Amino acid sequence: MPNQQPHQSVTFRGRGCARLVRGRLLLDVCPICSQRNARAMVPRGRCAWCAYVPDPADIESARPVAGPLAGRGVALDPDRDAGPG
Ligand SMILES: [Zn+2]
Repeated sequence: MPNQQPHQSVTFRGRGCARLVRGRLLLDVCPICSQRNARAMVPRGRCAWCAYVPDPADIESARPVAGPLAGRGVALDPDRDAGPG
């Protein structure tokens, strides 16, 4: 097992990217300016570029990649060959 702390991936109304680690918000990608946050500002939970401060009301759990809806009518990989039935 890698020595990683458990964290929950979250978004801000579907935009940006952040993590909740031990109750702290780590802002990785700003939902306003879509810039990857400066490394030093990630643990501060705010954007280094536009000074965005996350609103707790906007935080949503990021949807898991694999789920009951995965692969249902969503074409994310147009280069994939269509198999012979
Ligand atoms: Zn920003």
